[in-house]
Amino acid sequence: MSDSCAHCGDPLPDGATACPACGNDPRRRARIVGVAALLVGIPVFFVMPPVAVILWVVGPFALVGSWFLSAATHDF
Ligand SMILES: [Zn+2]
Repeated sequence: MSDSCAHCGDPLPDGATACPACGNDPRRRARIVGVAALLVGIPVFFVMPPVAVILWVVGPFALVGSWFLSAATHDF
């Protein structure tokens, strides 16, 4: 069974995490968001500590959650 890209609809190779046609790569995007949240939390901590704590909770969730994402459309 082959999946198609959720972004452009092109067929994806088996096991692909990113679309070769349009570059749709939700795992990479989620990892970038996670790392950004962790890094941004450092200066934010000195201004708004509660916001930094939220970022440090959301960041790891985005990093871990990125492993469950796929470039393909989901059939639940
Ligand atoms: Zn695509």
